[in-house]
Amino acid sequence: MVEMWNIAIQTHADEEAEVCAVPQFKINTEEKWGIGWKYSLKCLNCGYISPVVKLYKEITTGKRGRKAAAVNINLQAGLLDMPLGKSRTRLLQADLDIPPPAESGMSKLSNYVSSKTTDLNNESMRTKVEEVKNDKICGFG
Ligand SMILES: [Zn+2]
Repeated sequence: MVEMWNIAIQTHADEEAEVCAVPQFKINTEEKWGIGWKYSLKCLNCGYISPVVKLYKEITTGKRGRKAAAVNINLQAGLLDMPLGKSRTRLLQADLDIPPPAESGMSKLSNYVSSKTTDLNNESMRTKVEEVKNDKICGFG
């Protein structure tokens, strides 16, 4: 959020300093990406519109299309460890006046996070089995 304001103030100063000394910003556009947002600001004095700034970090998942927002992956990772499904999570967010993410997007990320978690667990188990085998060989051999 702070980065967005700094970008808007700096680019406004670079482009409009001669015509508008003191900007007065309001939100120009806002776009939801799951529970992440991106915004642009508009100066009410001179009409300057800032670049669109993402208020989330992106993660490359290797999937086609738009990059995933880290907050959305974190949400799914957190939900794996809770007795709360997608529908209840969306209802909870709506009750809290937080626009809920699309259920289809949540499903895709849930599948991605579940797959990655399974891979991690398999790798962890493989490592432990190797350690036990090595202990047997060294301990009883
Ligand atoms: Zn201005």
